[in-house]
This record gives sequence, structure tokens and C-alpha cells, in this order.
Amino acid sequence: MLPLMQQPQRSTPEIGGPTVILKADKPEKYAVRAPDPPDGGPAYLIHTKDRKGRLIDKGQLRKPAGYTPHELAIWSPKLDDDRVMGPLTHVFPLPSGWTIDGKSVSLDRLSIKQRTQILALRKMIPPAAEEAWQMRLNITMPWHKVWSIKSFYATPRDQFTWLKVMHRNLFVAGNGGAGDTACRACPQRENIEHLVRCSVIQADFWKPLLALMKALGFPAPPSGEEVPFLLLGRLSDTTVLDANQAGLMFIAWRCLYAAVVSSRVDGTPLHLDRAYNRVFQMTISRLKANGEKWLLWARKNAHTGQRRRTGALGSHTM
Ligand SMILES: [Zn+2]
Repeated sequence: MLPLMQQPQRSTPEIGGPTVILKADKPEKYAVRAPDPPDGGPAYLIHTKDRKGRLIDKGQLRKPAGYTPHELAIWSPKLDDDRVMGPLTHVFPLPSGWTIDGKSVSLDRLSIKQRTQILALRKMIPPAAEEAWQMRLNITMPWHKVWSIKSFYATPRDQFTWLKVMHRNLFVAGNGGAGDTACRACPQRENIEHLVRCSVIQADFWKPLLALMKALGFPAPPSGEEVPFLLLGRLSDTTVLDANQAGLMFIAWRCLYAAVVSSRVDGTPLHLDRAYNRVFQMTISRLKANGEKWLLWARKNAHTGQRRRTGALGSHTM
């Protein structure tokens, strides 16, 4: 196993992105970049790191003088489970940047892969999230399919928010912390479920998104079952959305959550129209980046449509 060249060092995180800020002879500070204040940035929400490497918001917005942001080394044993190890330059061995037989591997994923093989031999214990969702939603869920929802065009960062939602560990104001626990759109308490049940967010964000999906020819959940669809991708007792539709949903969750967070940090109204427009822009730019795959998908669906129109239903696929 050979370490590849590492080029870490300084990096200005995007707004909402985690980072570690450093100053000579001072302890490192974990932080999440906040939107730039009017008198110039960057500003940070100061965090601490718990024993498992999860960042905890201290509820302090600061512009610490003399500190510079640096990239974080993140250990992610699972796709949705990001644990902060420390500044990229201070951590060894880094989880990424290694090769086996000339192929790049990630140390964290490598170990989990081996562990998964052992675990698979045992009876798998469903994540605690399943039980908790089951209690709240009281509907049959195709859990195996839920946990395998993926997208070819949404980036890992795009996927972060919705995966956190599914696993019930998205940070929301209603969980407590400092002061304000209310939804940014209405006086109710903000929790994960409220982000899809809120009548304002539904009207200005989810309903237009569902209409768009319908217009694009994607399947829709049965009337009255929109909540389990938006939270977990459920279309029926036995099906979830496919990878194409999932990409849109990942990006929608990312944009909604970013709008909620920046509204709270800035103390400005929640701009759901902007969040919704951003879903388009981001989806289009991701699809451009995946042009070839998308073209294949579009062609495949064009054919499907034609078959339907002529009534020639076949079981053949591309
Ligand atoms: Zn609300």
C-alpha cells in the first residue's frame, strides 16, 4: 500500500461547510462557515468535536482574528457517517490517498467493507432510524430499498442532507441548543418531520417540486402518502424512487436545508422561492457534468414513451 501525494493545506470552505480554523500557538477550533456578514467575512459558527468526531454547534458566531481555515480529515465508515479526525495536515494515516495494486482506496471504507462481510453473515440489526420512522409514519416501508437509494449525478455533498434525514440525524433547531427552536417558516417547532409537514414549506417548496417531478414523467406517491415519499423516497409498500428521481430529491433536500440554515444564521426570512430555483440550477449543472449518462437516460425514456404511445408494451429493456 502506497500513500499518494497529498496536497492538502488551506481551503476556504463553502458556506455551511465544516472546517477547522488554525492560528499559530492556539488550540484548533472546529467551525462551520456562516454566510459572510455585511462588514466582510469570513464568519464561522464555532463547534466542538465530540469523542466520536461529530461536530457540535456551540451557538457562537465569530470572526476570529488571525485564524485561517484548513481542510478537515474526515473518517467516514459509512456514506452518511462523517467523523472529523482533525486538520488534514495533522492526521496520519489519512483515510484517503492510498493505493492497493495501483487502485485508489479509502482506508475507512476498506475496513468497513471487510467488516460488512462478517456482519452480513450474522442477522443484520436494522438501524434505530427504521424503528423510529416506523412508529411515526405507521406505513409499510421497503427498508432494504430505502437504504440503497442512490444517484449517479448528485455529488456526495448533495446527498449528505437527505441521507441525514433518512437516518434521523440531521441537525434541526427543535433539538434544542441555544434559544430559538421554531421553524423558520411558521411558529411550530422545527424537527426533521416538520420540514416536510410545515404548511408553508409544503406550499412553496415541496408542492412545486412534486409538480415538477410529475411534469418530468417521474412516478408520484399516492395522494396522502407524500410525507413518507419526501422523507424516505417511498412510492409504495414495495418500491422507492429510482436513481434519476433520487438525484433531484437529494438536491432538493440540500437546497432546502441550506436555505433554512442561512435564514437562521442571517436572521433573514426563509426564501423558499430561491431555494426552489436553486434546485433547478444545481440539477442542471450536475446533469451537464454527467452529460453522457443523462443522454442515455433521456434516450431510454424517449423510447419508453414511444412504446407506450403505440400501445406496444414489451418487457425488453436497454
Ligand atoms: Zn413550519
